Amino acid sequence: MRDGSVNIIGAGLCGSLLSIMFARRGITSNVYERQQDPRYSRPSAGRSINLAMSARGMRALRHAGLLAEVEPLLLPMRGRLIHKENGATELQPYGQRVDEQIYSVSRAGLNRLLVAAACERHGVAMQFSQEVVDYAPKSGGLTVRNHDNSNTYTISHSPLIAADGAGSRLRRAFSADSYISPAESQLPHSYKELSIPAGPGGRFRLATGALHVWPRGGFMLIALPNPGGDFTLTLFLPNDGPASFAALDSATSVSRFFEQNFADVMPLIPDLTATFAANPVGILGTVRCRHWHVGGDLLLIGDAAHAVVPFHGQGMNLAFEDCVVLDEILAQSAGDWDSVFRTFEHKQLANANAIAAMALENYVEMRDTVRDPGFLLRKALAFELERRLPGTFIPRYSMVMFHDEIPYAEAQRRGALQQALLEELTKNARSFEDIDLDAAERYAEERLAADL
Ligand SMILES: Cc1cc2nc3c(=O)[nH]c(=O)nc-3n(C[C@H](O)[C@H](O)[C@H](O)COP(=O)(O)OP(=O)(O)OC[C@H]3O[C@@H](n4cnc5c(N)ncnc54)[C@H](O)[C@@H]3O)c2cc1C
Repeated sequence: MRDGSVNIIGAGLCGSLLSIMFARRGITSNVYERQQDPRYSRPSAGRSINLAMSARGMRALRHAGLLAEVEPLLLPMRGRLIHKENGATELQPYGQRVDEQIYSVSRAGLNRLLVAAACERHGVAMQFSQEVVDYAPKSGGLTVRNHDNSNTYTISHSPLIAADGAGSRLRRAFSADSYISPAESQLPHSYKELSIPAGPGGRFRLATGALHVWPRGGFMLIALPNPGGDFTLTLFLPNDGPASFAALDSATSVSRFFEQNFADVMPLIPDLTATFAANPVGILGTVRCRHWHVGGDLLLIGDAAHAVVPFHGQGMNLAFEDCVVLDEILAQSAGDWDSVFRTFEHKQLANANAIAAMALENYVEMRDTVRDPGFLLRKALAFELERRLPGTFIPRYSMVMFHDEIPYAEAQRRGALQQALLEELTKNARSFEDIDLDAAERYAEERLAADL
């Protein structure tokens, strides 16, 4: 039977939320985090500064009784504001209902709130500056270094929950031919963050209410607003080649690149070349595992189990969904940890693989396809079919971002069918007026009804 306490490695977004859900269920957790306590320290450099939160993340916060507290940190974004090469802009709404928007949230602010709620309201024992430096899968022994005094100590108590992020030391202790069989595939593109400071009186210097995108084919720049009136910019660029991080190796090449590609935003970034040289380049990749648990002794969760590239804005949302799924299994199970972890893997593995694939596809959409008139035509028809066939036709983007009741794997499957349909219905159309909407509705209903 399940009893005793649980060790969680990592007090990031996933580990801290999970510890709160455990506490609400009467399960004691001991959390070990290598960073200092975020309530009293500055966030470490090199992590994404803000994140897009959508329905799955909001549902998890509601489930943990935290949504009302987090809401003041959220800045709504109703769509993508596309910045074209000629300086013109175009808003592409994400959805068509009033509540179909996503939210920019500060990673550090959210993490601080979760840690404070865990420690101060739920009595979670979080130990900071404690880094797991070694894990032996065979014995289950974990070696931790206390950075306050440089001593090391071991923990052998299970279960262990590894919420230690994309570079998880616990996951990396398993070889490719182990039961877990982890695989990391790095994207040949990386990212760098820059910033647009607030104007006088905290005024935003780009339009608010949207996620800004400068799609340039092989690469892109995006901007998300922060509550202080500033924007965090993220440049996504190939590692090598003519337009790449490798090619931007001098102040002159950086200035020329921004003049050629992002002339409208360049004057808003102070000390562009110095900041560009100073800020780190972050790598991007996907983590896939064959299994996420070892009996009832260890579970990988969040990015440790399934890091995804950030182009669908779903990594945190998925990690938060993991917490809800695990908590719901615990609510219904009096079984042991082995059966809880097994059920969790059974429910979430296919979903994680689905969003990993959709996130990779979305990179091409954001940096390139959004400029294609055919894409805009299909998007307009998708919205029209959603209006005419509510519940039957839901654009894939909306299923992922706004419909937390639809599992990612289901969104991927239905999305593929709908995409084929949209391509068929628009193949001879030059504009929206060329489409016989009544016929399209009948055809879509017939094709999709059988599938639901
Ligand atoms: C550029 C970028 C943009 C992103 N944008 C979005 C977005 O818009 N929307 C979205 O939903 N997701 C986004 N993500 C993904 C999101 O950041 C992650 O999915 C999320 O942080 C996962 O949470 P986690 O708790 O699993 O991992 P993390 O947040 O990485 O937390 C892991 C924790 O474990 C600790 N830790 C690590 N190793 C050890 C160790 N050995 N010992 C002890 N502690 C350890 C770390 O210090 C950290 O606190 C983005 C990611 C990137 C890189």
